[in-house]
Amino acid sequence: MRKVIVVALGGNAIKQADEKGTVEEQFKNVETTSSQLVSMLKFGHRLVITHGNGPQAGNLLIQQEGATEEVPAQPMDIVGAMTQGQIGYMFQQTMQNMLWKEKLPLPVVSVVNQVLVSEDDPDYQDPSKPVGPFYSEEEAEKIKAERPEYVIKEVKPKNVAKRFRRVVPSPDPIRNIEYIAIRRMVDSGIVVIASGGGGVPVVYDKNDNLRGTAAVIDKDKAGERLAEVVGADLFLILTDVDAARINFGTPQEKPVRTVTLSEMRKLYNEKHFKAGSMGPKVLACMRFIEWGGEGAIITSLDKAVDALIGKAGTRIVPDPIKE
Ligand code: ADP
Ligand code: MG
Repeated sequence: MRKVIVVALGGNAIKQADEKGTVEEQFKNVETTSSQLVSMLKFGHRLVITHGNGPQAGNLLIQQEGATEEVPAQPMDIVGAMTQGQIGYMFQQTMQNMLWKEKLPLPVVSVVNQVLVSEDDPDYQDPSKPVGPFYSEEEAEKIKAERPEYVIKEVKPKNVAKRFRRVVPSPDPIRNIEYIAIRRMVDSGIVVIASGGGGVPVVYDKNDNLRGTAAVIDKDKAGERLAEVVGADLFLILTDVDAARINFGTPQEKPVRTVTLSEMRKLYNEKHFKAGSMGPKVLACMRFIEWGGEGAIITSLDKAVDALIGKAGTRIVPDPIKE
């Protein structure tokens, strides 16, 4: 049956770990990813696509700080919006080229969207998400003096010279500001790319006006909010491992296949999934099923099509309805 599927693409969909991130490398990866997405479109599924932006935003932040003498540095919310356009453009162009060759001329468009967060979120008290360049102790002191609003933390061991990095809060996404526009586009058959990099984080100020906030929203959690907005049937997280595993990294390691929400909640509470990587993916999948989704899948890019027919990946399904 044809489904509305929100697909969340991991970092490896755009830049492989061992790559610098040249435009050629990025387009090559986007092409590999897009061919999987196009296969799903050929089955008749409707897709809404979201993606991470860590390496791209990191590189742009380095450019901001390296060029301050000539061009004023732009803040993080602007950098987030820039990467939504950058990555969205690469997917738009690549997917459109492929779809035309398949004689399936679906419109593909990316949306620069804002995602509401709260500055009361506990992560604002002790920011956890490292962003941008690494600094030596001397550079870190200089940056702290120039930009008192920055929180700089030691993120590598003492024997590493460049061991300091800016950290920003990673608040929970509350909702998509542009949800009506996104829903209308999806309902009308457009392949929409949205909430890239978790969306541009915004808060309401005391006059009820939106403004950007220096934060990074987890892309899997933001992807789940997007899935609610568009009334998705399935939420598909594509990463660099083919399944979530229990006892990860031990000889007892074992992939999780199809589990109910209650079974997955038990594994989650037993802390099988690491914070900052698999943890938020599992959490986002559980939220989607709690909301009313029919299935949430975690798998690798190359297993995406198999996972949709139950032949690969981790799938979370609702609990059986009891009287
Ligand atoms: P993405 O860019 O796709 O969000 P992440 O690095 O954030 O990728 O998350 C995927 C990583 O999660 C895997 O490469 C793996 O090392 C790690 N991971 C942590 N816990 C688990 C687990 N229990 N099962 C599988 N992978 C896990
Ligand atoms: Mg991740």
